[in-house]
Amino acid sequence: MLLSEQKTHLVLLFVRLKIFIFCVCRLVFCLTFEIEEVSMSGLEMDGSAVGDRSGIAESEVQIASQLRGPNASRSPRTESVVSITECPVCFDVSLPIYQCINGHIICNSCLQGLTEKNCPSCRVSLAKPTRNLALEKVLKSYKVMLPCKYSSNGCTVKRVCEEKEAHQLICPFKTYACPMSNNNNCRWEGRLDEIVDHLKGRRRPSHFVPLLFGETATFYFPAETDAESQLAIQIQTCFGTYFLIALKITAATDPNAGNEYFALVQVIGHSEVASRYAYRMELERDGRRLSWEAVPLEISDNVKHAMDKGDCLCFSSKTMMLFKNREIDLIPLVVTISEV
Ligand SMILES: [Zn+2]
Ligand SMILES: [Zn+2]
Ligand SMILES: [Zn+2]
Ligand SMILES: [Zn+2]
Repeated sequence: MLLSEQKTHLVLLFVRLKIFIFCVCRLVFCLTFEIEEVSMSGLEMDGSAVGDRSGIAESEVQIASQLRGPNASRSPRTESVVSITECPVCFDVSLPIYQCINGHIICNSCLQGLTEKNCPSCRVSLAKPTRNLALEKVLKSYKVMLPCKYSSNGCTVKRVCEEKEAHQLICPFKTYACPMSNNNNCRWEGRLDEIVDHLKGRRRPSHFVPLLFGETATFYFPAETDAESQLAIQIQTCFGTYFLIALKITAATDPNAGNEYFALVQVIGHSEVASRYAYRMELERDGRRLSWEAVPLEISDNVKHAMDKGDCLCFSSKTMMLFKNREIDLIPLVVTISEV
């Protein structure tokens, strides 16, 4: 009898112990789940607090909270959203996002760069691509932080899609093609602070471009060229800034018309730097003067496009003959840079 009572007591004790262990486990699980949810929502919502979701439609907040509910599966992390929305060609995320009829996405820049308008993923025609507004809305509404396009160069900046483009324009890790790439097929690419070193010879390969100091300098450019089109570049530095002085000679299609000459100044800096300066280019000889004044181009501006538009000092072979230094067969171009 005594033995039976002891047995019952032991069984009861065992059952209570099991219930206690179950409760402790459940409590630990709930606490862990809550902590994970808070940290994940911080990642997804631009680092803001869970309650701070201004600008997001009520229904979307409800959808988001349903996604985060205890019965739902885990909501996607920022990295997952970025990888889902990244362009399969350049691995960047940018708006607008286009898609083929099979739903494969592509960014606007890669779409414009396609030589054949076919989807890179499935080869169907992309002649009439459609926008993927749903993906764009996810990026905008949830303020997903996107890595800079130049993250592979070392940039760690992340921005929401509306602000990403503005950062990338002035990103110190942005790479630029060699300013002479069109002229001699130089494939060099480098950061803004490496351009001068590449051009003037401190860093190989180089073009050994002449560098002149001062606000006013006289550059001597070749008067003739054997090539159909030749771009010559020299560098001027003043006010702690470097400027590229570019002169292009284009052989005219009509042999009687002679060559055409185009000259301009481009600052090795962004638009904010370019807007601080003005330049004047002058050809002067025997009492004649040909002059052009403008704000320098910024480094991202296309020199060829500006010259094609005539937004520069332009003159013909006949005019050039009036200003050429006949002894040395060069064009003396006087460039004056001033602060505005
Ligand atoms: Zn792309
Ligand atoms: Zn496709
Ligand atoms: Zn960047
Ligand atoms: Zn080069």
